[in-house]
Amino acid sequence: MAQCGVQLTAVIVANAMPSEFALIDRIRQRARTRADVELGIGDDAALLRVPAGQWLVVSTDTLVAGRHFPDDTQAADLGWKALAVNLSDLAAMGAAPAWCTLALTLPRDEDARGATDSWVEAFLDGFLELADAHGVALVGGDTTSGPLSITVAVHGFVPEGAALRRDAARVGDEVWVTGTLGDAAGGLAQWRGRGLQSAKLRHRLDRPTPRVAEGIALRGLARACIDVSDGLAADLGHVLAASGVGAELELGRLPTSGPLAEQFPDEDARWRLQLSGGDDYELCFTAPAAEAFAIEQALAACDTFATVVGRVVAGTGLALRTPDGEAFALATAGFDHFPGQA
Ligand code: ADP
Ligand code: MG
Repeated sequence: MAQCGVQLTAVIVANAMPSEFALIDRIRQRARTRADVELGIGDDAALLRVPAGQWLVVSTDTLVAGRHFPDDTQAADLGWKALAVNLSDLAAMGAAPAWCTLALTLPRDEDARGATDSWVEAFLDGFLELADAHGVALVGGDTTSGPLSITVAVHGFVPEGAALRRDAARVGDEVWVTGTLGDAAGGLAQWRGRGLQSAKLRHRLDRPTPRVAEGIALRGLARACIDVSDGLAADLGHVLAASGVGAELELGRLPTSGPLAEQFPDEDARWRLQLSGGDDYELCFTAPAAEAFAIEQALAACDTFATVVGRVVAGTGLALRTPDGEAFALATAGFDHFPGQA
């Protein structure tokens, strides 16, 4: 229906940013491709080749201004983080990332001409730095105007049947976490307090490291796995609910960075950051105790360490114990976008 098509085009042009097509062209120029991309940015959709014997693993995540990052976050850091949080989801499945798409909603730069262009260039610096580091090709997306919001989708592969799922924890498994916990939450708490800020903690908030190689290395060793985006208590809670088990965590074992221990010397406050604070993007996984040595070796080969913080038990929910053996109560498990709604 030609008439219908004409009307639709008029609406799209009226809503488009003035330089939408120039922006897309610039993104296309800067993005690298890979051999399994038959057709990338430029057509109505991308054409991609999935290797035989592999499952396609797909995930998407959005960052919204005023909700997911401090308003003074640099554009390059936002670019990095928008991709990092998505790669982290693939890592938690044990998948190898291959492709991504990028939907950008950007405020119009009515007063400052060229501000959008330079913002996008800086955003791409961070986004493509991480994409290139993981050999991920940007194969498409969408560009619109509105309040700043960034949606990325990532696609990767896992050998058939080898994915690390939330529902695979078993009673008796050990509960592990990679790296250290609470740094990003510490950085965010300091930014909110508008006091002294540790550059190291802030860096962990702005430039999280997706544990991609680690997720792949854990195939066949770990049972259940999840990435810590909303806080250890909430995210491990998802694993427990999906697996129909409970867990006991020992707070004295929570892996703590030097900067976090220095900036938050009070144990109680620090544990709360480590349990309820999000944005760490470490992996939390469960595994049979017999795999402990193999896990340490596999992660050492990725230049990463992991720590056993507790064990899976029969029942439901998460029991927290202080080093004195006392029960520890946590008011909120983690961030919830729709609190109180079922
Ligand atoms: P359509 O109107 O058919 O949806 P668009 O004009 O939105 O096409 O996009 C044109 C091409 O540019 C498509 O291949 C799309 O995937 C790509 N594209 C649009 N915006 C982005 C972006 N922000 N990042 C990467 N590719 C993009
Ligand atoms: Mg489009």
